[in-house]
Amino acid sequence: MAKLKSLHDLYVSELKDLYSAENQILKALPKMAQAASSPQLQQAFNEHLEQTRRQVERLDRIFERLGQKPTGRKCHGMEGLLEEGKEMMSENMEPDVMDAGLIVSAQKVEHYEMAGYGCVRTFANMLGESEAAETLQQTLDEEGEADKRLTQLAEGMINREAINQGGNGFQMR
Ligand code: FE
Ligand code: FE
Ligand code: ZN
Repeated sequence: MAKLKSLHDLYVSELKDLYSAENQILKALPKMAQAASSPQLQQAFNEHLEQTRRQVERLDRIFERLGQKPTGRKCHGMEGLLEEGKEMMSENMEPDVMDAGLIVSAQKVEHYEMAGYGCVRTFANMLGESEAAETLQQTLDEEGEADKRLTQLAEGMINREAINQGGNGFQMR
């Protein structure tokens, strides 16, 4: 990795990390939607896919204004999270349990993104990049909403008979 001399360098580097993360998520979400059984969960993944496309465009615009290219960094954190998700999806599970597992994976992804966006939003403010700060806050809010929606879906599942009746003691608690 190139040497980072200033907060501005770190800001750009972290934006690149998020750009890489979002692009990895773009590839993963259709597979997660496909692995999901609950129509509401499928819908949540598909809608977040659309949202993620817009989030990438927002980052593109920030890079344009900075006069920089968004490439040059791979988010290994997201790579690891998505790799774990892939391992989980390859397991042989009851559909409801798989859905619960997909929610775990997706919420880990959302929280990782929230940490990244929260930091770059703060850096943008510190650097006087108020327009970028606003844009980044917008994405941060969307990730938060996506996370909340997943929590609601998980809570809805607790009430579903199939899970409590499974006989293998699975409970989403
Ligand atoms: Fe995102
Ligand atoms: Fe990362
Ligand atoms: Zn997200």
